[in-house]
Order: sequence, then C-alpha cells, then structure tokens
Amino acid sequence: MAADRTIDANGKYVFPGGVDPHVHLDLPFMGTFSSDNYETGTRAALFGGTTTVIDFAIQVQGNSLYSAVEEWNKKSEGNAYGDYSYHLAVTDFNPKTRPEVKNLIEKEGITSFKTFMAYKGALMIDDGQMVGLMREVKEHGGMVTVHATNGDMIDHLVAKHKAEGKLAPLYHYLSQPEITEAEASGRFIDMAYYTDVPAYIVHLTCEGALNKVRDAARRNQKVFVETCVQYLLLDASLYEREGFEGAKWVMSPPLRKKKDRETLWAGLNQGLVNVVGTDHCPFFMKQKRMGEDDFSKIPNGHPAIEHRLELLFSEGVRKGRISMNKLVEVTAANPAKIFGMFPKKGTIAVGSDADIVIFDPETTHTLSARTHHHNCDYSGYEGWEVTGKCRTVLLRGRVAIENNDIHIPKGYGRFIRRSHCSKVV
Ligand SMILES: [Zn+2]
Repeated sequence: MAADRTIDANGKYVFPGGVDPHVHLDLPFMGTFSSDNYETGTRAALFGGTTTVIDFAIQVQGNSLYSAVEEWNKKSEGNAYGDYSYHLAVTDFNPKTRPEVKNLIEKEGITSFKTFMAYKGALMIDDGQMVGLMREVKEHGGMVTVHATNGDMIDHLVAKHKAEGKLAPLYHYLSQPEITEAEASGRFIDMAYYTDVPAYIVHLTCEGALNKVRDAARRNQKVFVETCVQYLLLDASLYEREGFEGAKWVMSPPLRKKKDRETLWAGLNQGLVNVVGTDHCPFFMKQKRMGEDDFSKIPNGHPAIEHRLELLFSEGVRKGRISMNKLVEVTAANPAKIFGMFPKKGTIAVGSDADIVIFDPETTHTLSARTHHHNCDYSGYEGWEVTGKCRTVLLRGRVAIENNDIHIPKGYGRFIRRSHCSKVV
C-alpha cells in the first residue's frame, strides 16, 4: 500500500507515544488554579513525547461524582491537543455516591478511583469510606489509587512548626517525614488486601513506603506503584536554598533523601515500581508567593509534563540505570495496561492508535523556562543538560510535533474511554 508520506527515522529510536497517568490541568487548588490548562498542558506533553494524559476529576465534598466529570469536561472539551482521560477522585463516599461507581465504569469508561489519606476537610476520606469504596470498585472491575500519606500526622506537624514560627519552605518538607508516607502506604495496602481490590499507589517517593509494597509481595499481593521523575532525579537539599527558592519544589509528598532515589531506581529494576509519571501541577512564582510568609500556603506542585521521556532517557538509559525496554514499559506500556487503554495506547501494533515518537538519541539540549512549553515562569530543571530529544510525534497517525512546532489544531485531543483496569502487566 502506498503511504501519503514517508518519515525517515534512520539513526533514531521509535517509541510508542507516552502515557502520563498523573497530571493536574486547570486544577482548582489552595485558592488558585494550576497554570497549565488542557490547551497548554497537552501541548507541552506532546512536545515531550507524551500523547495521552490522565488527569483527576475531583469531587467536591457534598456533590456527586458525576458533577466532577461535568466540571472537567468543561475544561477539556474542544481545548486539548493530546488525548486524555480522568481518574475520578472520590472525596465523599456515601450511600448517594456509591451507585455512581458502577455507572462511571460501565457507561463513561472511567475505571480508576483516586483517594486521599491526607487533606482533611477538603479531600481526605476515612478508612471506613475507603473500605466501602474498595468493595464497590472491586465488584465492578475498577482500580483504587491513593495519595498515601497520614494526613493527621502531617496536620499536627504543620501546626507545630507554625506555632514555633518556622515558616520557610523547608518546613513543608519537615512536616511530611518518610514515616507519614510509609504508615499510610502500609494501611492502604492492608485494606486493599482485605477487600482484594486492584490497587495502585501514586507518587511513591521513599524507601519506607516501598518496603511496605515489598512486604505485601511476601503474601503474594501485587500493588502497583507509580513514582514521578522528580523523585528519581531531585532531592530535599533543594529546600535549603536561599530565601524562597525552595518553594519551586514544594509538592506533596516532598522530595526525599538520596537514599530514597536509590531505592526508587532499584525498585524499577525489581519490578516493584511499575510506572513513572510526573504529577505535573505548575504554578507561577507569583502564585507560589501566596505562601511567602507561611509554607502551608504555598500551592503544591511543579511543571514536569514535557520532560519525562527525555529526562528518563538521558539520566536513566544513558547512565545505565534502566534498560531501553524498561523506559518504554514505565512511560507507555504499563500505564496503558494498568488503566485499561492497552493495546489502543502504549504500543506500536496493527490496530493500535498510531501514537509514535521518533526520538533522536544524540542531540544535546538544555532545559530552561525560556524554552519549555509549560505555562510557567520557572523550571525545576533550569540549566540541566539533556541528551536525547523527541523529534517527531504522531498522534493517531497524524504528525502532531515536527521541526519544534505543533501541526494539529486545538481540540484534536479526544477523551479516551477506558476498559476494566488490569491486575497484570
Ligand atoms: Zn497529583
């Protein structure tokens, strides 16, 4: 069959389009909104070889689950360049919201449900709600995912630091010690074991939490684990920078110690860490400065959606920390499989969406806020030299990125209805 066009990929790698299962676009948070919306966020993702993202539609406590979907549809419809789906973040599980779970899975193709064990009074559900949700999701073939940190311990430490007049960004980090994440991860894993629901921990950062996953494996329990590229590459020494600069990396959980980075790289190779996302949630410095006099008012998050594949190639594959196959597994194949999009997404095969990245492994470039496509005035990786660049990106067979430019219109991105989540990858 004659092709309309032939693209020369000589000397390049050809990857399936990336799937980033953890992004926040146009997120209302801490009195402001994350600064990338569906237009700018999915465009930045495409420049970095990510063709599909999964955002979080977040229920407002007291409202229905469906109202969150309606709100997120208003943000996304007609605005996205790249393909997208939502996890439904359940912040209020009760007899009214319970029947919505089945409808979301069967009618909307929203098959994963996010929970928060922190942010009491806004996002957190208690253990009773957690077990109830797990039973319901299990019955209908979905997945429960979790932000696993002990909210009460963290709230206690935040209040203590503030009472002592310790208000700098460093105290954001010191209010979320490793044990708060390890404890909650273990509790979540036990509840998932008890209810036998497919379970997934988002943005796992540390040795203590990964050891809970390791322990679960001893009783033949599989818990999927996602980490994010920043937890592999950056560490908490950044919070000790002069003045307010540490606010750039204020996120939850915070960056950890060097030993935790080593744990996460090892976890990738041991098959304990299955996915690398970004938790992309950027804010301009003027938004960050809402917390200039109080670390607890700094909006949490940083820009990352564009850099995942290139950083993992440069720092991971080139430095011998992970294999090329592992790179594709954790950035594309596994998230597509786990969240019910495989083989439509996450692979190059007959019958799959032709989401393809042509990757130049030799080009060296420097990451900077001056050149990135995030709608954000700083980069968490300012001045980093990266070897390897996404040259051409195809989305559903159409050239989306070429010659450092975008070639599809706004609104080309589609909502992806997902099937049942997978228990195996
Ligand atoms: Zn997040």
